[in-house]
Amino acid sequence: MPLVGVLAIQGDFQAHAEVLRGLGAEVREVRAPGHLEGLDGLIIPGGESTTMTLGIEREGLAAPLRALVASGKPVLGTCAGMIMLDRLHLGLLDVTCERNAFGRQVRSFEADLDMPGLGGTVRGVFIRAPWVTGHGEGVEVLAQIEDHPVAVRQGNILAVAFHPETAGETSLHEWLLERAQSTNGRQTG
Ligand code: GLN
Repeated sequence: MPLVGVLAIQGDFQAHAEVLRGLGAEVREVRAPGHLEGLDGLIIPGGESTTMTLGIEREGLAAPLRALVASGKPVLGTCAGMIMLDRLHLGLLDVTCERNAFGRQVRSFEADLDMPGLGGTVRGVFIRAPWVTGHGEGVEVLAQIEDHPVAVRQGNILAVAFHPETAGETSLHEWLLERAQSTNGRQTG
């Protein structure tokens, strides 16, 4: 089974690790550049994007994270993880995100999203979630809530505004593992 890294600077990385182990993957917590070596895929979890940004800077992780993604390894970013991937942060995903986009009234809710190609219905927990406010042509919108993209894919990067791992949802992790196994995750289609 593939070896998948979970960025463990901050946030709910343990919940992702549990889902991955439940699917039979080997998991490595990533806290330093050396931990990225030999990974078949990566998850950037939800949490708090400012804290995560500072941690990535402190540990010198930005450049090696970019190199891993450029090498074609599949990456899943969830909630703050989606923000980390956007134009203003790691610059790996051609999207702009708005943080805490659902506003004060609706801080947390669950939703079933229709995502054909990713197991049909995907359940997600939205916790002070972002949404996508703009994206380039190479970005495929996989799900929206009230016309706001909340799940996108660009090549080997899948990013969602919600937490699948706290909803018992495994289909996005399965996508990552399938991609990690096939042709070293190098296909971009
Ligand atoms: N609101 C958080 C941020 O902006 C993201 C929330 C989450 O990851 N659940 O960083």
